Amino acid sequence: MRVRSVEPVLVTYPFAREPLSYCYVRVEADDGLVGWGEACDSFGCTYAGIVGKVVEDAFAPLVAGQELTAVEPLAERMRLFTRRRLGDQWVAVHARSAVEIALWDLLGKASGRSVADLLGRVRDRVAVYASHTFLEEGDATWHLEQLAPMLERGVRMVKVRIGPAWRRDLAVMATIRAGLPDDAELMVDGSEIFTVPTALEVAAALADLGVRWFEEPVPQGERAAIEELVRRSPVPIAYGEHLFGVQDTVEALARRQLDVLQPDAAVSGGIAEARAMARLGAAYGARVVLHHAAGPVSLAANLHVAATVHHVGAVEYSHVLAAGWSVGTGAALGPETIVDGTLAVPSAPGLGVGLDEAAAAAHPYGIDPTRVAGSRGGLPDRFVGDR
Ligand SMILES: [Mg+2]
Repeated sequence: MRVRSVEPVLVTYPFAREPLSYCYVRVEADDGLVGWGEACDSFGCTYAGIVGKVVEDAFAPLVAGQELTAVEPLAERMRLFTRRRLGDQWVAVHARSAVEIALWDLLGKASGRSVADLLGRVRDRVAVYASHTFLEEGDATWHLEQLAPMLERGVRMVKVRIGPAWRRDLAVMATIRAGLPDDAELMVDGSEIFTVPTALEVAAALADLGVRWFEEPVPQGERAAIEELVRRSPVPIAYGEHLFGVQDTVEALARRQLDVLQPDAAVSGGIAEARAMARLGAAYGARVVLHHAAGPVSLAANLHVAATVHHVGAVEYSHVLAAGWSVGTGAALGPETIVDGTLAVPSAPGLGVGLDEAAAAAHPYGIDPTRVAGSRGGLPDRFVGDR
């Protein structure tokens, strides 16, 4: 089987809160078989037009016309040909991830086996955790109402997002904690907004609430600060949605810059890379949970990774983004499909989830001129915190 074409398909879904963009990739073989991939830049694919352009100009010419008998030689071809010009991090890796995932989908379809079966499936269902919104968006009653459908489906891990008004947020969190089932784990995402002294003050309060991890409290590039925080924080520190592959990960693990590792196939270089990162995390004694915050194709990709690594405890499940998964085909992934807090790993050949091109075309990509720093007006302050 030879790859005939590699093309980005860009989508902007009009969530009421703020529109979110996505970068899907369509790979077609010479026999007409189609594989789907998706890139994520940690929340949808905000700069989908740029990521799509990298797919088009840099990676499509390297993959189109190539024989596909295994994915990794083509993934390495993409990496090695572009590494010295586009780099090994950020946009280049987001774009490469999408193509790699699409090649796995194509190979699986061609061989009649699911991606998890090709890699070595160790489980058929994967635990998910509810990835909830910013605490500042409502009071504890509102948050618990929003979380209720997930808890009713047996989900026992909940993550909330703390902001610059962290003293108020901590009070809301205390009430949320009291309203959650006793056996539910509570986690907090810091969205990279704190300095080390504030992060430590917040972490002390989180420890009192029994919080299981504090995610990205300080900006991900401030590695020395992260190291200090990991040493001094009374709650485990989580990073990973901005780690680009094995090299970044082994450095972070060796220097003890995280306790909880969060790879994402659509961010970190693809399915094989995220899987390798997860296994490294296990070797260093880190807790491993997969990140996800984009469309249905990348959710499926991460489910397949989770299905093949014993050590992966759960996949992030952004129930607030589920409406945007309506552009997907194949296995249903909505909250109604969660049973006992777990999601079935799609069993159809390939990823078992694709893109409905007509549905995607109904939500064409558009840049909202009022968007600043990836969010609507006012929100730049949201991401400054105490800095
Ligand atoms: Mg996060």
